[in-house]
Amino acid sequence: MKPDFYFHSPVKVHVEVEPLKVISKFLTGVESVGVVSGKKSIIKTGFKDFLKTSFMDKRIYFFDEVEENPSINTIIKGGRFLRDNRCEAVICFGGGSAIDAGKASAIFAENNLPFYELLASEKYNRALPVLAIPTTCGTGSEVNHYSIITDIEKHDKINFSKPDNFPKEALLFSEYLKSLEEKILIATVFDAFTHAFEGFIATSSNPFTDTLAIEVMKIIIKNLKNYFDGKILSLPELHYASSLAGIVIGHTGTTLLHALGYYLTNHHKIHHGEANALILPTFLNLCRKHNIEKVELVDRIMKDCGLDVKEAVKSIFNVSLTDILNHSELENMVNYALKKPNVLKTPFIVKSDYLLDNLALF
Ligand code: NAP
Ligand code: FE
Repeated sequence: MKPDFYFHSPVKVHVEVEPLKVISKFLTGVESVGVVSGKKSIIKTGFKDFLKTSFMDKRIYFFDEVEENPSINTIIKGGRFLRDNRCEAVICFGGGSAIDAGKASAIFAENNLPFYELLASEKYNRALPVLAIPTTCGTGSEVNHYSIITDIEKHDKINFSKPDNFPKEALLFSEYLKSLEEKILIATVFDAFTHAFEGFIATSSNPFTDTLAIEVMKIIIKNLKNYFDGKILSLPELHYASSLAGIVIGHTGTTLLHALGYYLTNHHKIHHGEANALILPTFLNLCRKHNIEKVELVDRIMKDCGLDVKEAVKSIFNVSLTDILNHSELENMVNYALKKPNVLKTPFIVKSDYLLDNLALF
């Protein structure tokens, strides 16, 4: 066993509890609440109407301007919106984009500073209390302290993370996943899988996170196999697995795979989960080539379930890396990824030429 490690998971997670019950309790004593979201999910799920009719005694301010892969500008604007409306609490509703943006805005609301200044600052006021309600099943942002924010000018994804910027509470209500487009739903499932897999093999893994990661991979592999066999996906299971995986990366961070995926999103607007899925088969192979022992267990789980990840990725997304990137862009992707801090958690050292050759095979 590792000589020293920790486990810290402070978010109270309500699973499949009636939203009215959870939100009423969360808003006890709160007069003014900010709701941070994108434009689609809050309408399609009926959540906006539900809030307006159920909480007529509260002042509810809707900030629905969060775009996919939220930018620095958006979270600064969100922070100002919450501050100007004197919000005492925040509900983040949506996928990882809305939750990451809402969590970051909740801290900017209390700290009127430029982005990079607040990112670097060790002294800051605590964020407004957040209730996070995920409507995708991929990021696990509802249970960790990360906000992945895009610096548009630099084509870069920055992890705006503060040690205490966890949501106060989270609600997993899988009914909200039903309005999600199937391809995005599956892309987010792959994101959760990569969180578990990367967390499992990361140099920063520990026995707590390994236990969770194995559980996540078992749930997801079983569901992906069912999906291929034309059977029904279990949305509650996938929501749960995604949150567990969010706790895993909250401890371990992600690795080279995520760093490579960021490039595809930053430069080609490929959804984060799809980007990771497209890298996954190559990354699995790299781990095998470097004899990373833990991969044997993952391979066994996949084999027992009869899932071929490479085939699965091909048939779902119907595109390969080399369809998207020419050789010089592949090179740019590798150079970008090898500079990201995620690489430090990767359990093998990889040279750019070798990585490039392996990626070019797909
Ligand atoms: P997303 O970008 O939040 O959402 C993808 C799309 O699906 C959006 O257009 C969104 O629209 C829509 N959508 C979401 N839920 C819906 C629903 N129930 N019904 C209909 N449409 C729905 O996707 P995501 O994969 O969840 O989040 C990706 C972001 O999270 C990236 O920025 C990534 O870097 C970040 N991330 C964070 C962590 C972390 O640990 N914090 C981990 C991994 C990734 P609306 O937004 O308009 O509703
Ligand atoms: Fe991710």
